[in-house]
Amino acid sequence: MGRMHRARWATALEGLLDDEIDAGRVERVLAHLEECPDCLRELEMLIEIQQSLGRLLGVL
Ligand SMILES: [Zn+2]
Repeated sequence: MGRMHRARWATALEGLLDDEIDAGRVERVLAHLEECPDCLRELEMLIEIQQSLGRLLGVL
């Protein structure tokens, strides 16, 4: 994935995870994910990180 592309979508993906972007934006991000396997992988990675963070915090 190009670095520019990643930079452009990283904030949107994080916003999607944290529920911090408005519905219209969510739709655009989801539409993009359908045609961009790279961003989909990136999102999966972010989810994994969030889950392991959650586990970690649960232990502490
Ligand atoms: Zn993408």
